[in-house]
Amino acid sequence: MTTMMATTTGRAAVVCDETDARGGWKQGRCATTRGGGRGGTRTRTRTRTRTRASSARDADGVDEVENCVIIGSGPAGYTAAIYAGRANLRPFVFEGFQAGGVPGGQLMTTTEVENFPGFPEGVTGPDLMDKMRKQAERWGAVMHSEDVVEVDFTSRPFTVSSSERTVKANSVIVATGATARRLGIPAEKTLWSRGISACAICDGASPIFKGEEVAVVGGGDTATEEAVYLTKYAKHVHLLVRSSKMRASKAMQDRVLKHKGITVHYNTECVDGTPNSKGNLGGLKLRNTETGDESRLQVKGLFYGIGHTPNSTIFDGQIQLDQGGYVVVNEGAKTSVEGVFSAGDLHDQEYRQAITAAGSGCMAAISVERYLTENNLVVERHQPKQTQQTKTAERDSEAIVPEDEDTFDINVTKHKGQFALRKLYHESDRVILVMYSAPTCGPCRRLKPMLDKVVTEFEDQVHYVEIDIAADPEIAEAAGVTGTPMTQIFYEKERIETLSGVKMKSEYRRVIEGVLGAKEAPTKDVVMKRPQKDEKKETVGAQN
Ligand SMILES: Cc1cc2nc3c(=O)[nH]c(=O)nc-3n(C[C@H](O)[C@H](O)[C@H](O)COP(=O)(O)OP(=O)(O)OC[C@H]3O[C@@H](n4cnc5c(N)ncnc54)[C@H](O)[C@@H]3O)c2cc1C
Repeated sequence: MTTMMATTTGRAAVVCDETDARGGWKQGRCATTRGGGRGGTRTRTRTRTRTRASSARDADGVDEVENCVIIGSGPAGYTAAIYAGRANLRPFVFEGFQAGGVPGGQLMTTTEVENFPGFPEGVTGPDLMDKMRKQAERWGAVMHSEDVVEVDFTSRPFTVSSSERTVKANSVIVATGATARRLGIPAEKTLWSRGISACAICDGASPIFKGEEVAVVGGGDTATEEAVYLTKYAKHVHLLVRSSKMRASKAMQDRVLKHKGITVHYNTECVDGTPNSKGNLGGLKLRNTETGDESRLQVKGLFYGIGHTPNSTIFDGQIQLDQGGYVVVNEGAKTSVEGVFSAGDLHDQEYRQAITAAGSGCMAAISVERYLTENNLVVERHQPKQTQQTKTAERDSEAIVPEDEDTFDINVTKHKGQFALRKLYHESDRVILVMYSAPTCGPCRRLKPMLDKVVTEFEDQVHYVEIDIAADPEIAEAAGVTGTPMTQIFYEKERIETLSGVKMKSEYRRVIEGVLGAKEAPTKDVVMKRPQKDEKKETVGAQN
């Protein structure tokens, strides 16, 4: 028996009461859809019945199964989401949070992308990924910035779990990409983000590297690209290559070798780093790989450009992986489990480009659509219209501009630039969130809308200031910014906490609520919890 029920979300829920041996589907009659991805939507009726089991229950007590869960938000994941959304599958996207890079994927760590079709003047990686994300959302993809921690592809519907929720799905696209490798030297434990970084593009503009000597490890395209990029900020760049030659393309090798700001050290490996008096990286211990001779190099920055490892740990034992951990793919996007498809660098060891990842995301989504249709598993989900309110909110969060004496208004919650920070530092009676960002920092783009939401929740109780470290370097230096994004929370001229990188919204709420709770407490018994490192009073560069 098949029953259509209206749910609180306004979606039609299909309830069927028979299952087959595979645990899900039996002959019967249900409407299915097809199309969208390649030219419109066709609806047709098939003679099968299905059951619905799921993670989330709606108000009628009906369990829901997603048509398609996509794991990953690089070019592969977002492109798959665009196609699946256009096919009215309402894909459920786990964008990731910290595992395997940042939401938006590897391009969030690069500046100009010159080879993605459709952008004759080039486009920055973060801009390109923002556009892909918006396009996927426009077609109804539902985004969750959470890491998937476990999958079960052994029974159907499939199960995908993050730290926040468990979702059932009739099909899954795995698109978790690859992660930059680390050297594993002892100094990483103490000097990570204090001079050692895996992302020159994200951290290169930080004040601690400006006008200083820095080193890049690696001899491939990534390392050479990073070395050239760093010459914009650093006094000199040392490229440390383990073997006697570089693996980078001939064009990149030529660029590096001709560049006066770069010295290539062949047969050289980095064995450790040493701190300076400020606790940041001050120098490197190097070893000659041929002679074993050790030497020292005085640098303030060490950037890794030494390749990637596929982010496939959660799929181990669930789908076939090769010896290097890459997903084994047959016939386009199919994995060893029917209904699970792969896209992008997670299986591609050869091309590793944004366009090939996007192309395979498209293939995976079309394969999903075919698979669901052939197995009569589709539940059509039409995308909601974007409300005027949403559009206005998006515009508002993008519209903050640096202020001056004429434009600054202390009654406004969200601000930008050093003038606003100095004023608020001295005059605000609210909790102040200072977010340090860089123009080329992809993770900063992910953090901004998150902070925007948190700040809106505490409207009138907090002030938010965004500092672009490239526009206001002296403020960033005074605040001890070593990488972006970095968020500092102040109250009554005292720094309460520093949160580096992109944290869960709950982390920012926790700090704000801690301060507000202490502020409103009737007795002196409530003590604000502060991390030891931040105990001393801070001036946030507000020495006016
Ligand atoms: C510095 C640099 C410059 C580059 N420049 C170019 C260029 O100019 N042109 C070009 O074509 N290519 C370029 N590339 C290559 C390109 O970025 C990659 O080929 C492409 O991003 C691969 O896309 P993907 O979607 O497969 O994976 P990724 O971009 O790696 O994305 C993987 C996604 O999966 C998510 N994820 C990982 N684990 C989990 C989990 N457990 N749960 C949920 N989500 C998870 C991550 O958050 C991420 O969003 C560059 C790469 C680098 C590093």
